[in-house]
Amino acid sequence: MTIQVAVNGYGTIGKRVADAVTLQPDMELVGVAKTSPNHEAELAVENGYPLYAAIEERIELFEDAGIELAGTVDELVDAADVVVDACPSGIGEENKSLYEEYDTPALYQGGEDADMVDVSFNARSNFADAEGADHVRVVSCNTTGLSRLLAPLQEEYGVEKARITLVRRGGDPAQSGRGPINDILPNPVTLPSHHGPDVNTIFPDLSIDTLGLKVPATLMHTHSVNVTLETTPDASEVADLLREQSRTFMIQADSGIDGAGALKEYAQDRDRPRADIWENCIWEESISMEGDDLYLFQAIHQESDVVPENVDAIRAVLGEADAQESIDRTNEAMGVGF
Ligand code: NAD
Repeated sequence: MTIQVAVNGYGTIGKRVADAVTLQPDMELVGVAKTSPNHEAELAVENGYPLYAAIEERIELFEDAGIELAGTVDELVDAADVVVDACPSGIGEENKSLYEEYDTPALYQGGEDADMVDVSFNARSNFADAEGADHVRVVSCNTTGLSRLLAPLQEEYGVEKARITLVRRGGDPAQSGRGPINDILPNPVTLPSHHGPDVNTIFPDLSIDTLGLKVPATLMHTHSVNVTLETTPDASEVADLLREQSRTFMIQADSGIDGAGALKEYAQDRDRPRADIWENCIWEESISMEGDDLYLFQAIHQESDVVPENVDAIRAVLGEADAQESIDRTNEAMGVGF
């Protein structure tokens, strides 16, 4: 069966998911829904993606802009086997009744509340939990990055306690209204930041404390990681384990990649679409063991690490593959793994 996929909300995440879906051998993009006829609507048309009006009263705006519509979002949702909702935080919840009306399983993004869905999802960590679910939340960029890291550590060594400081980009490159412009903000100033509880939606029993900061950057997030393990492997064993994971990029000491800027340059040089980096980028040199405490730094590309996860979640809800098959298929089709 070719899975018919709809994407509702064609912004930063939605346009990337739409592109990734078109690359999958077992999926077809039915179309994308948009609220306004902006440059991204033009892009959808240029890509040959059928474009649907997300809000009926706005059809005229598309007509005025000379952009042809294939129909309304209701028709799109009706025609799809699964819908990926990539609307701004909170709008997904408003759309839930629409998906229920057409009995179309829906994937939401990390900005939605965990309680509005049946299951929160990360392919490496809990793929099977999403099978047959109607409402699934693909966790945020940071939670995705942490889940991918913690899953193998927990399986291999056991995790007694994770302590993570997240140095977060102030906004995405196109978010001109976000900040700070010239500041370093403890954000939130209270503990824990929402990331720890969010990781617990994937690993309910994990002991984790998280602290967040926001800095004047748009490129990526950086995590300073300390995990107390239940056993004491060598740092080199941990490095081997993380290297074996299919969605990690181990940054070699002699690569000259010293931060997010160089990582983005690397992705650009390797012709990644939009200079996306779907993998957790882990500085191999930073991996250290002090007694049973593991330390490392990793960078996370906020705009793209959730994209392969959305593709896997599509197969998971429909029971179309198991975790390994799906991850392999997604990676191969997108070219995940440097
Ligand atoms: P975005 O603003 O870039 O894109 C959202 C798109 O949805 C926009 O094109 C907007 O016009 C459209 N939209 C608004 N209302 C709509 C409606 N009613 N119907 C259809 N479309 C509508 O936002 P984004 O960054 O792609 O974020 C989407 C979700 O993904 C959020 O939950 C966010 O928390 C999550 N997320 C974002 C990032 C990131 O770094 N950008 C990373 C991971 C997860």
